[in-house]
Amino acid sequence: MPQLNLVLRHRDIPGLHELAVYQTNGGYAQLRRAVTELTPEAVIDIVKASGLRGRGGAGFPTGLKWSFVPKGPGQKYIVVNNDESEPGTFKDHEIMLRNPHQLIEGAAIAAYAVGASAVYIYSRGEFWKSAQSFDRAIAEARAAGLLGQRLFGTDYNLEVYTSLGAGAYICGEETALLSSLQGDLGQPRLKPPFPAVAGLYARPTVVNNTETLANVPLILERGADWYKGIGTEKSPGTKVCCVSGHVERPGNYEIPLGTPFKELLAMAGGVWKGRRLKAMMPAGASSPATPGEQCMDLLLDWESMAAAGSTLGSASFIIMDETTDMVWVAMKTSQFFKHESCGKCSPCREGTFWLTKVYGRLNAGSGTTEDVALVGEIIEQIRDKCFCPLGEFALSAPRSTMAKFPEDYRRAVGTVENGAQQDG
Ligand code: SF4
Repeated sequence: MPQLNLVLRHRDIPGLHELAVYQTNGGYAQLRRAVTELTPEAVIDIVKASGLRGRGGAGFPTGLKWSFVPKGPGQKYIVVNNDESEPGTFKDHEIMLRNPHQLIEGAAIAAYAVGASAVYIYSRGEFWKSAQSFDRAIAEARAAGLLGQRLFGTDYNLEVYTSLGAGAYICGEETALLSSLQGDLGQPRLKPPFPAVAGLYARPTVVNNTETLANVPLILERGADWYKGIGTEKSPGTKVCCVSGHVERPGNYEIPLGTPFKELLAMAGGVWKGRRLKAMMPAGASSPATPGEQCMDLLLDWESMAAAGSTLGSASFIIMDETTDMVWVAMKTSQFFKHESCGKCSPCREGTFWLTKVYGRLNAGSGTTEDVALVGEIIEQIRDKCFCPLGEFALSAPRSTMAKFPEDYRRAVGTVENGAQQDG
C-alpha cells in the first residue's frame, strides 16, 4: 500500500509553506467558507461525521471534543499541542516547518467551530528556531487578512499566537501544558474540571494535536465521506508514522490507518544491515516493547493495536535489531522518565529514581537475581498510584522487557554470577 500524503502533502507540492502556493492549492478557502457560509455547529457536524480522531496519542474523537465546549458568549481558546516531546516522535515538527498554513487554517477552523477568538500554538522550547519561521507564516496570513479582526467581512475576530515551553516532557500532557502556557509550573492538574470547561485561565479550552488540526481543512474541502473512505471504519484517515532506530531510511511516513506494520517497515527500507528485527516500540519510550516476531502482522490502527495488547499512540516506531540489549533499553527509558518526572507525586518521583538505580547495577554487570525481583517490586509501587500518565509510561519498557525478553535479564545477571564464581 503506498504512502498517502494529506498532512504531509508539502512533499508533493513544492513551496507549500509559502502563502501564495498554499492559496493556489485551495488554502484558506475552507476557513473562508466556514466563517462566511457555515454555522459553528455545521463545522462540528462535518468533523464528527468524518470520524477524525486525535493524533497526539489517545485517539479521542475530535468533533466530539469540540462539542463539549459550552455554547454562549465569553472567552474560549484553542490550544495546539505542538510539544512533541515523546522520544522517537518528529512528525509535528515537519508539519510546523513545511506545511504551516494547513495547521494554521485547521486551528482557525477549530476556533470558529467552538467560538474561540484566540489560538495558542504551544511548542517545546527546543523548537525555538522553527517557531520563528512559523511566526512568519502567521504574520503572512494576518497581513493577507486571513487572521485578525472582522474576518472576511464578518464580525468574527481571531488571533493566533505561538508560545514556547522550556523543553519539559510533561508539558505534552494537556493540563500541564495549560499551566505552563499561563506562566505556572508545568505540572498536571486534577481532572475534572476538564479543559473544555475550565482550561486556559479557567476558560473553556480545546487542546488538539498539530497533526489532528492539519487534517481539518482537507476534511472540509473534500467532505466527511471522502475522509471516512480512507483507513478503517473506526480509525479513518491517515497517520503520520515516525520511524527511527535500526532502519535503513528513518523518517516520517504517512499511511492509511490499518496498514500492516510490515509495509511500514518496508517503506523505511527494513531493518538496517540486513539484520533481524528483535523488538519494536510503537509509540516512543512510553510504549511496550513488542518482540519482532509478533510485529509483522500488526495492523496500524487504534483498535487492532489495542487488541494485540499494544498501543498506536503517536505512532512513533522505534526499531531495534537483534544486537539490542533490552535491559539497556529499559535502563535508558527509566533514565528518561526519571529526568522528566515533574516531582508532584512520590510514586513517580521516587519510583523512577529507584528504577534507574537498579537498572544501573544490572547494566553495569553488578546486578543480581534479587535486583530483577526488586525491579518487579518497584513497578508494583508505581503502578496505578501516580497522579498522571507519566508514571505508567515509565513502566512500559521495564514491564514489557521483563515479560517478553527474560533471557536478556538472565544474561545481565549471569555475567555477575559467573564473574563472582571466577573471582571466588
Ligand atoms: Fe509528575 Fe510523575 Fe506524578 Fe505525573 S506521575 S504528576 S509526572 S510526578
